[in-house]
Amino acid sequence: MSAVPWWQFIPWLPWRVVATVEAADEVPEHLPRRGAVLVGSPTYQKWVVFDCPCRGGHRIMVTLDRSHWPHWRLTEKPLLSLWPSVDAMYGGQRCHYIIRNGATHWVRDNRVR
Ligand SMILES: [Zn+2]
Repeated sequence: MSAVPWWQFIPWLPWRVVATVEAADEVPEHLPRRGAVLVGSPTYQKWVVFDCPCRGGHRIMVTLDRSHWPHWRLTEKPLLSLWPSVDAMYGGQRCHYIIRNGATHWVRDNRVR
């Protein structure tokens, strides 16, 4: 049984948390678009995991653990926001964006890293 309910696979939903699991290896292999999985417990958010919105098929995992630096902050009011930006390299391209109030805001940047 998947941790993600079937209706979360409706493709036009905004960014949201679709499941919470206790350990990173329990994150489902198949995730909906803009569907994030929290790893941890209700009192201790350890990681957030999701598939990159570039649709290149790579998975993003960032720490929410405040004892780590850097760490990200996830809020769900009114819709999912993640701060600071996600900045990943994948297959020679840069995926740099901010998730704010359920939407992806791509950061355009011509810098070469
Ligand atoms: Zn990407």
